[in-house]
Amino acid sequence: MAHAFLSKRVVTPQGTQPGALLVEDGTIRAICRPSEIPADAILHDFGNDALLPGLVDTHVHINQPGRTEWEGFRTATRAAAAGGYTTLIDMPLNCLPETTTVAALEEKREAASGECFVDWAAWGGAVADNQQHILPLAQAGVLGFKCFLIYPGCDGFTMIDQQQLEAALPSIAQSGLPLLVHAELAGPIDAATQSLRHADWRQYQTYLASRPDEAELQAIRLMIRLCRQYSFRLHIVHLSTALALVELKSARKEGLPITVETCPHYLHFAAEEIADGNTLLKCAPPIRSKENQRGLWRGLHDGTIDMIVTDHSPCPPGMKRTDTGRFDQAWGGIASLSLALSIIHTDCGNRGDTLDDITRWMSSAPAALAGLARQAGVLQSGRDANFVRFDTEATFTVTPDKLHYRHAISPYLNETLRGLVKATYLRGEPVYQEGIFASTPKGREVKL
Ligand SMILES: [Zn+2]
Repeated sequence: MAHAFLSKRVVTPQGTQPGALLVEDGTIRAICRPSEIPADAILHDFGNDALLPGLVDTHVHINQPGRTEWEGFRTATRAAAAGGYTTLIDMPLNCLPETTTVAALEEKREAASGECFVDWAAWGGAVADNQQHILPLAQAGVLGFKCFLIYPGCDGFTMIDQQQLEAALPSIAQSGLPLLVHAELAGPIDAATQSLRHADWRQYQTYLASRPDEAELQAIRLMIRLCRQYSFRLHIVHLSTALALVELKSARKEGLPITVETCPHYLHFAAEEIADGNTLLKCAPPIRSKENQRGLWRGLHDGTIDMIVTDHSPCPPGMKRTDTGRFDQAWGGIASLSLALSIIHTDCGNRGDTLDDITRWMSSAPAALAGLARQAGVLQSGRDANFVRFDTEATFTVTPDKLHYRHAISPYLNETLRGLVKATYLRGEPVYQEGIFASTPKGREVKL
């Protein structure tokens, strides 16, 4: 029996228009005009609510196996479902073991089995000493590789230096998969931190000064050079400094295969507004000035930044060190899976950006990065019926019960946002609806 999901605003690659998704056996059979809905279809009228493709988040730290006291597949995918996401790609670090070998990938698959409310897949790690594992990982089903050019904030996953990276790049290029880079170099950070030895680390300005734009700029320049030399797909994760946009733009113009992401917290918060001691807003690279934030939005508008992903990176509350308020002691990471769409929709509403822009940034562009352009990220017949019912007019205040990930802490608490995910559908079935989750997790690992 076919189901018809009717909305005045269905967001498709051809634009936003009135229409209906015809869904059968979990698959989109067609997108038709409201007048063309078959008489025998079961009708689900979304009224004024928009119908968006399920969002894709390529930057999530699920932390399982190994650090389930931080987060896990069950809680992260619940938060994702509540936030309108239907596909997550898990970062290879903070879990134990790190996803740097096929054996570790298999452990992750075991941990994920039967736990996921939405679909998922894994990034592999490119670390100091796993060059020989790159191609086997690619063959085993990771969608790409992540590396750190600087200490990643906790032990286990190792940073990679230039020489080690150059030993891995031929394999990465051969795999055809993207390399996701945490682009900060230690030099400028070490120098800045040295001069801040006696500074007050409760002040946000101290933390900001310790991670200067220059650290990102130098790392991005290095990666552009290596991209030119080794011809691999380069992806810059969580771009924070708008100063890098000029060089990224010209590198892309040159034809280099470079993509760029930024995150909701860089677009929503600005350094001038961060209270001293508010370590909930610590992340790396740091949230910079209001002027810098305007530059990031310009980067999104002109296409130099392709996508907005969350870098959902939760931890147990104690690790945020709100007791001391010291930015040097706090864990760097901000979780926003359950809120990102509402945050970006709120900010876009103030700027005139449309649902088409938002779904491009949060759905089709991340799907393309992960190599999933043919299966996720847009509404199209023949694909899994993964979509979101989104009330663009509803406003709500962020309270702990709306977060759904392991620990209900967030710098967004008490904010009022416009745009509410009413329901998220995976293969035609609601996995989240008005605060209620499906009883059985039916998410799967997605494969290329
Ligand atoms: Zn991250």
